[in-house]
This record gives sequence, structure tokens and C-alpha cells, in this order.
Amino acid sequence: MRKKVIAGNWKMNKLPNEAIDFITELAPLVKDSKNEVIICVPYTDLFYSLLHTQDTNIKVGAQNMHFEEKGAYTGEVSGEMLKSIGVEYVIIGHSERRAYYGETDETVNKKLKKAHALGLKPIVCVGESLEQREDGSAKEVVTTQTKLALEGLKKDEVEKTIIAYEPIWAIGTGKTATKEDANETIKWIREKIEEIYGKDVSESVIIQYGGSVKSSNAKDLFEMSDIDGGLVGGASLDAQEFAKIVNYK
Ligand code: PEP
Repeated sequence: MRKKVIAGNWKMNKLPNEAIDFITELAPLVKDSKNEVIICVPYTDLFYSLLHTQDTNIKVGAQNMHFEEKGAYTGEVSGEMLKSIGVEYVIIGHSERRAYYGETDETVNKKLKKAHALGLKPIVCVGESLEQREDGSAKEVVTTQTKLALEGLKKDEVEKTIIAYEPIWAIGTGKTATKEDANETIKWIREKIEEIYGKDVSESVIIQYGGSVKSSNAKDLFEMSDIDGGLVGGASLDAQEFAKIVNYK
């Protein structure tokens, strides 16, 4: 039985004092949840968030990392740096990074390999654009992205990778994929993983849905057979709303 994993992606939002206030409000609201609760916060909030989540069931993640250990990469943060302060999760290949910062399937793959080598748990994002959805290539696009992201990983690493299926047209737009559509695509991704890595891996790998998840649609989405929780952007910025998503039942 796969666990539901609910991860918030704050993007470029919240100062450290706001992060601390959020955690203080969220912690008692989700303390009894059997779902995995993660907040992926800006780099400047990581240390404060780790300190303030210490006695809670809230896990902390970053939103990106570099695949090199160190060097002349101005403005970048390495996986080693994240690991050194106790970060557990890291989002890799979010569509905003692919669109605005030149993230490619190749860099996503390098980052995934590095994250696993360091024992960081990656949440890798895949998803089609509106154009790709309309021209009928959505499944092909997510299959290619998934295969290239996971290329060269060991079976146990694939098993420990969280995949977030995020149709780009649904991110931050208020448009959500129907639960049937989201489930069908996630099932498809699972089948492709089975073809390469076998049934034991495909049945245990966590595949989330992301794209305008909110408390009013979380239950419908998360109760589908193949949707193992969600990556939540906008709605994760409000502790009460995010808690309702985590406690969706
Ligand atoms: C995201 O940023 O990953 C996301 C899904 O955003 P939103 O929930 O705001 O659509």
C-alpha cells in the first residue's frame, strides 16, 4: 500500500519569519496525519524551517539543487550544501525551472543521480504543455521526460524517487486536470516504469499529481487509484488551507 505524500512548493514566497509563523500554525493541524507532509521552501528559509519542524511530522525540502559538488557556479546551491544542514527532499525539474532557467532532461537526470548519491529524496516533475496536450502528444512527452529523468538510476533509486505529474497548463492557472485524466496519465507513467524496472518498482513508486490542487479538489484527486498525493503550489502558502489538503479525508 503506497503512502500519500503531500508536498507544498512555496516557490519564491515567504521570509524566514513568515516561514516560522506558517510552521507554528501548521504543525498542530497535521500532527495526526498518516500522510507524509513536506514543505519545499526557498533556500533562505531552509535552516529556520528545519529548526522549527524538529519536533513535528513536517519534512523540509528545497526547490532545486546543482549536480556539481562545488565550484564556479555563481548563485547555485549544491546537494552537499542541502544535505549538510539536514534537508531531506528536493524538487528537481519543476516546469518553471525548465521554462525559465534552461533546465533540461539531461540536467534533471544529473541532479537525480546526485540527489540519490547523497541520500536526498528527489521529487521530479514531469508534465505536458497545453499545446502538447491539444496536439495529442501528452503521453509521449511525459513518457520521454520520465525515462530520461530516471535513466541510469538503480532500481532502488527509482523506487525512492517521487514523481510529480504536473500538466503545465494546470499550474497556477486554477485549471485542474479531471481526476480521471490525471489518474489515467499517472497510470500510464506507472506502466512505463513497470516496462523498464518491473512491477515491484512500479507498484511502490510514489506518483503525485500537481496543478491547482486545493482543499476543494484534493479528496477527489487523492482518492483515485494511482494518485499518491500532490505537489501543491499556491494553496500551500496558507497553513489552514494546506492542512485541509493534508487532512483531505
Ligand atoms: C507547483 O508549483 O508545482 C504547482 C502545482 O502550483 P499550483 O498548485 O499553484 O498550480
